[in-house]
Amino acid sequence: MPDGYRYGRVLLKLSGEALMGDAGYGIDPKVIDSLAVEIKEVVDDGVQVAIVVGGGNIFRGVAGSANGMDRAQADYIGMLATVMNALALQDGLERAGVVSRVQSAIEMHQVAETYIRLRAIRHMEKGRVVIFAAGTGNPYFTTDTTAALRACEIDADCMMKATKVDGIYDSDPAKNPDAARYEKISYLDVLTKELNVMDAAAISLCKDNDMPLLVFNLTAPGNIRRALKGDNVGTLVY
Ligand code: UDP
Repeated sequence: MPDGYRYGRVLLKLSGEALMGDAGYGIDPKVIDSLAVEIKEVVDDGVQVAIVVGGGNIFRGVAGSANGMDRAQADYIGMLATVMNALALQDGLERAGVVSRVQSAIEMHQVAETYIRLRAIRHMEKGRVVIFAAGTGNPYFTTDTTAALRACEIDADCMMKATKVDGIYDSDPAKNPDAARYEKISYLDVLTKELNVMDAAAISLCKDNDMPLLVFNLTAPGNIRRALKGDNVGTLVY
């Protein structure tokens, strides 16, 4: 465990929306650059980092099927969107001086390695950041579920889900000024109170495998490091 850190190996889940900044669509290079700097800080300290990136800034399967597309076909488009985000993120990391590898759950040799669990772990042990792209490779899943799955597979100490609010609230803080943030909450409470943190499949996977889940605000600078050090950032689901 790196000095002063609570978590030595982390699976960071970044939604596609986290990469688009204020643009409303696509990828904002400025957001990528600042993310890369924050990730470099913790990697330099010895933390092993893997990332699952979403694709909602480009395409979501559910939205496609709502407009008449075949759901599975739309989900494949969504998975390919995550690959674009992964490559953009890799570009930012490499420019920041972080060695990284993209591993895709759908084979595409020219742009990414194929997902191989032990190889991903080996990369991390060598200080490389691994970005998991193309979700699980299966339609009808989300990248949150992918993140929970990969966190378990690589034996992460924690899954960290980056959001725009600083944790889980008992009601929507954007609508209710009295909304209170949970410091800690159980998986079961998240499910039964329908707090809309992640889909139930993702929460259940964390619960069944005792994978701690930290929901935290990515937009506050320095929060990745603070969260990894165990500071009172966000909400811990246990
Ligand atoms: N997706 C999928 N299988 C997976 C992961 C993702 O089919 O295992 C598709 C799904 O269509 C989803 C899209 O990829 O809408 C983008 O992922 P997600 O919505 O989870 O991205 P985020 O909300 O994190 O940006």
